[in-house]
Parts: sequence; structure tokens; C-alpha cells
Amino acid sequence: MYPRASTNLKLRQTIDDIHSQYLNSTSTPLEITKQYLSRSKSIDKDINSVLRFVDDLAITQANYCQSIIDEIGIKEAIDKYPLFGIPYNLKDNVLVEGQIATSASLIIKDFISPYSATIYKRLSEAGAILISQSNLDEWAVGSSTENSAYGASHNPFDLSRVPGGSSGGPAANVGSGQSVFSIGSDTGGSIRQPASFCDVVGIKPTYGTVPRYGIMPLASSLDQAGPFTNNVQDNISVLKVLIGKDILDQTTVESNRLESDLTNLGIHNRDDSSNKKFKIGIPTQYFVQGLEPQIRDAVWSNIKALELKGHTIIEIDLPLTKYGLAVYYTTMTVETASNLQRFDGIRYGSQIPASENFEQYYTVRSDKFGNEPKRRIMLGTFASSSGYYDAYYNKAMMVKELMTKDFNSVFESCDLILAPTTPEFPFKFNSKTTDIVKMYLSDILVYGANLTKIPSINVPMGFFDFEDKQLPAGIQIMGPEYSECSIYQLAFEIESQRIES
Ligand code: GLN
Repeated sequence: MYPRASTNLKLRQTIDDIHSQYLNSTSTPLEITKQYLSRSKSIDKDINSVLRFVDDLAITQANYCQSIIDEIGIKEAIDKYPLFGIPYNLKDNVLVEGQIATSASLIIKDFISPYSATIYKRLSEAGAILISQSNLDEWAVGSSTENSAYGASHNPFDLSRVPGGSSGGPAANVGSGQSVFSIGSDTGGSIRQPASFCDVVGIKPTYGTVPRYGIMPLASSLDQAGPFTNNVQDNISVLKVLIGKDILDQTTVESNRLESDLTNLGIHNRDDSSNKKFKIGIPTQYFVQGLEPQIRDAVWSNIKALELKGHTIIEIDLPLTKYGLAVYYTTMTVETASNLQRFDGIRYGSQIPASENFEQYYTVRSDKFGNEPKRRIMLGTFASSSGYYDAYYNKAMMVKELMTKDFNSVFESCDLILAPTTPEFPFKFNSKTTDIVKMYLSDILVYGANLTKIPSINVPMGFFDFEDKQLPAGIQIMGPEYSECSIYQLAFEIESQRIES
């Protein structure tokens, strides 16, 4: 009943592919923008990764690129603006001044952003062209996009399956060739799990490297944005544009060192970088019960191949992994309940006339929040309420500290950690919606990096035969805070070991 989407891996272009077309004069930013807009509109009929196309903005940005070419020439333009003329997509929880942003919720259905997120400004200054805003689980809570108030997105490689979540829209958008890159947010796996399900590279950088200003908050101590791309090189190029201190986000850090490391990792010295040999830790606890055997075997064959290339492989222990889910859901629900308080039917979006007994507050919140945000608000309010705070929230904070200590001590004996990204292939629609813990378990292998603030990337391993389909799966690399450069070095090697279908 569900065919594979009318997508083709060859549609997926990299930044270099587009820049070569500009340099050879075989295309212009305006032509590429129009081509991507019309292609995306046709492909997305099956996938529903896009909530809104921003044609006018895209054409304006493309014309601006053309004026730069007219002024300084294409070669200098590409040297000066790293994402020059590159069409991209943004998750719909990132603000763009003058454009609607809904976070896939009805409660702010027609909300128009009064200002832009820092990351949007940085992307624009780097020459990138925004063409669309994409679907997600409402308020970024979920693992499948089935919680979107605007209908679920579909996996580009099997339309009967989910693209993952909450950034299922951005991942499916890039995976189906509708944009060259996209930006998602990751609070508890929402970049890496959908990246694994949609065959794209997705990184959750170290907490504090990418400014959160203008990104709708979910759990502020865990939220971090990052890029989805078709290859590792593009991921570096986009991340480099996003990172750096922002006076509008007090948690951001200067990332000069990270930036120069990433620059040195440019495509030209990629071969040198692969000479670096790492000590790689394999956490026993990440090879969980129920791990899909094909994924387990593929991760191990990647590990073996790395060992043959001279990397050292050691087994490591992260014994607190089993508490990750409980700690994550306690922390995130408390912060989410607090962040979602502002949607009260008065200040933002849906507004109904005020009444003396605050009835509008109850009406708007009951009618316009979906079930999953409501569940998180109730859980978080309970876990942080007087009398329960110590038993739940404070205890979760303590375990979180211990988990950070565990990771730090592991990083004394190894440089990086390798593990599967997800325990399974993309799952079928409705297969987990009635058993919410099953849904939460889909991210069991990715919570750790958010709770301990460390960077973690999904690198696609290739496609596998599963239930008569060819489905993608990825491998996860984690490292100490600010080790993105080493993570990418290893990611290049894993990328080169990819299994082609
Ligand atoms: N699946 C996780 C959740 O529902 C991840 C959310 C996220 O990273 N935005 O909480």
C-alpha cells in the first residue's frame, strides 16, 4: 500500500556539488533556489516534511546572492560566504523575523516571529537560502513526528514508517533531497535518532556551542541545535557557521579553538586527519536487549574495520546508563512544564477573551495542546511540586551529576565512544503510540549525551534488508565536551566504510 517515496539518493547534493555548479556557471543561486522549491513541493506530497515554503524570502535571498556575484564574482563570493547560495530548511521551532513559527502546535498556529534566532542570522550572513520550515513533534516532544498537530511526516525510504522525531521533518527533508541541509534541535536525541532513520549525518554539539536565542525552548538545560547534512564535510561547514558566543544566550561559550580546529579539518587535509589513531571505547551497556541484530552486527563490523586501520578498541562501562531514561524524563518534564507555561492564551497565539476566573487559560491549554505536551506538563508539574521535589527532581539532578562523572572517568581511558544510535530501524506508524514507554525507549541510546552535555553525532552506516525494504541505520560517536573535531575525524572514516545498497 505504501510505496517508497519518489525519492532517489542521487537527488541529494552536497554544498560542494552546488558550489561547483556556480563555479562552472552551469547554474545560478536563483535557478538552484527555484529548482529546489519546485522539486521539494513535488517530493513532499508523499513525505509531509514541510509545514511552509517561504518562496518570497528564498527568492529575495537568492537575488541578494546574485547581487554579490555581480559585485565581487562567484569565486570570491564562495570564499567569503561559506554557505553561499545553499538552499536549506529549518525546524519550525526556530524563529525567522516576519515568518510564521508554530513548533507544530495549534496553540501558536498563526504566530509571526517578531525577531530572528541567532542561528538564522548566522546562516543568512553565511549566504545560505532558507526555502522551507519543517514539521516536528509538537513542541519537539516525541520520537516519530506522530505528535505534530499538522499530520505526521513519512520516512523517505518507506512511507509506511516514521522518519523519527522530534526533528523528523528536517531529517526527512534532507534525506529525500529537498534541501542541502537542515537545522534541528536535540533535547534528548531529536537530531540523532531521526538522522539514523533518514540516512543523514546529524550532530548534537557540546551544550553551549550553538546559541539557543530564538529557538523555542523545551528543556533549556538540555536543548542544543545542530545540522543535518548529506555528508560529514557539510556537517562541519554548517556547524562552523552556527557556533560561537552570543550575548543573547548566557550559556554560550567562546568557540575560537573549536572553530580553528574545525577549519583545519577542511576537506583538503581530510586524508591527514584519518592518520590520527584513537582509543575508542565500546560501552557494554549500549548493546541493549532488543537491539536489532543487523544494527549490532553492522556496528561491530565498523569497529573491526577501525581496529584494522590501527585504532585501539577497548570495552568500557557506563553502569548508570540504565537510569538515563528516568533521569531524562524527570529533568525534561520539569523544565518543559515551566517553559510551556507562557502559552496561556494571553500573550502568544490563540487568544480568547479574558474572564475573571481565568477560564480562558484552561480552555486554551486544554483545547490547543496535544496529548503528549499535556502529559509532559503534568509529569513535570508533579515531579517539581512541593513534597515531591526532593524525591524526583533533586534525585534526578544527583544521578545526572553521577552520570557526568562516569563519562568523565571513561574519557580518561579512551578518546571517543562508539555505539549504535538507535536500537532499531525506523518503525511503522502507530506501532508505539499506545505504549508510550516503548516510544520513549526509542531514544534510550541517545539521552546520555544531553544529560552530560557532551557532543554526539549520527553517521549513516548504509542500508539494510529489513521486512522487504531497504532501511537505513546509523552509528553514534560521542566524545568529551568540545571534542567535535575528533568526532568528525572518526566520522570521516566511518563514512568511508559505508555499506552501499
Ligand atoms: N524523544 C525525546 C522526547 O520526546 C526527544 C525530544 C527532543 O530531543 N526534542 O523527549
